[in-house]
Amino acid sequence: MKNRDAHAAINGQPLRPESLMMSYGYTPAWSEGAIKPPIFQTSTFVFKSAEEGKAFFELAYGLREQGPDEEMGLIYSRLNNPSLEILEHRLCLWDGAEEAASFASGMAAIATTLLALLAPGDVVLHSEPVYGGSDFFLKNVLRKFGIEAVGFRPTATPAEMQAQVAALAPGRLAMIFVETPANPTNHLVDLDACAALARQHSTPEKPVRLVVDNTFLGPVFQHPLRHGADVVLYSATKFLGGHSDLIAGAALASAPLMKEIKAMRTFMGTMCDPNTGWMLMRSLETLKLRMERAAASAQVVADWLATHPLVARTHYLGHLAPGTAQHDIYTRHCLAPGSMISFDIRGGEPEAFRFLNALQLFKLAVSLGGTESLAEHPATMTHSDISVPEQAEMGITAQMIRLSIGVEDAGDLMLDLEQAFQAVGVGQGVEMALA
Ligand SMILES: *Cc1c(COP(=O)(O)O)cnc(C)c1O
Repeated sequence: MKNRDAHAAINGQPLRPESLMMSYGYTPAWSEGAIKPPIFQTSTFVFKSAEEGKAFFELAYGLREQGPDEEMGLIYSRLNNPSLEILEHRLCLWDGAEEAASFASGMAAIATTLLALLAPGDVVLHSEPVYGGSDFFLKNVLRKFGIEAVGFRPTATPAEMQAQVAALAPGRLAMIFVETPANPTNHLVDLDACAALARQHSTPEKPVRLVVDNTFLGPVFQHPLRHGADVVLYSATKFLGGHSDLIAGAALASAPLMKEIKAMRTFMGTMCDPNTGWMLMRSLETLKLRMERAAASAQVVADWLATHPLVARTHYLGHLAPGTAQHDIYTRHCLAPGSMISFDIRGGEPEAFRFLNALQLFKLAVSLGGTESLAEHPATMTHSDISVPEQAEMGITAQMIRLSIGVEDAGDLMLDLEQAFQAVGVGQGVEMALA
């Protein structure tokens, strides 16, 4: 798409992403004046001439360098499609990325990126816990290709991580893969420290890449590329999509790295489809509104939970104690605490289940980042494939409940939570001082 930056500034003053989400990368004159880009529901594109077709393939297959004013043309929707290109240009804005690629799912983005950047013999150092699908891919799928995964706790100090790298054979470390905040404990990983470690162990022949899954806070509240990350990944199913009605993913990086990742996407066929791409563009228009509203409600709900007699503790970024290492990372990396709250209910699994079964407005479902509030039980649902001792080490308990706060009225959400707490107490002889 030509002139993607043409309307990104007024009188030299750059416009903010939320101002650009309705127009960036698209000119209505391309499509009969339609204010919204149409869905380019097509598998293939007609060349103007055989010469043009030849030129497009030369660029697509890297047979020659792209000319200074030459644009990559449209060939076939597994390689590129206007609905996806406009979306990808818009996705770059929040994170300040050079290039982006959209995928059929978050897992497609993760799997394609790791396969593009890793080779047999490599080691990936990864934070733990990570999303269950990523965990399986790192430990089971990559192993089949001779790639080893080594985990570290989010609370590991830079010195402890140095020691883990030192224990590896020289030159094997190829990637540091991080999910921050960690799910469901909201532990933060120090991206500045990880970037320094990656740089320190990089050589011109063997760069160590820092790859960050930014699904939980991004792209509005955390920007890993500004802390030295090489690639940022998203499950666009979550906040980017934001309405629990689509599955998609994204990867963002520098132009040379994206070229490698997009080449792997072409050969694996893991791209997003045009209709989902269009749905994502609609979602991006309200992304900041939704995330800010959900975060504001989450703050009210989390503060209330922290004082509740049936809550043993909260795991929420807005409750980190000043002076702690976690709070220090928070002030460097995060613009807001986001809308994910975990808390330990007093009791164990029976109390947690009674609470979950009593909820009316919150829906009992996994996933997160949608307009509706969700609740789930990590120990027996999203994180059930982790052994109980390992769960304990990660801080995942039988009494932990994870909430994803949506855009409902915060008072109504607390009304629902309160009646569910009451249901936990019924028949238990629990004395509760409930407001
Ligand atoms: C959901 C999720 C994924 C996987 O994304 P899908 O779109 O479900 O494939 C990856 N990472 C994180 C942090 C997630 O929450």
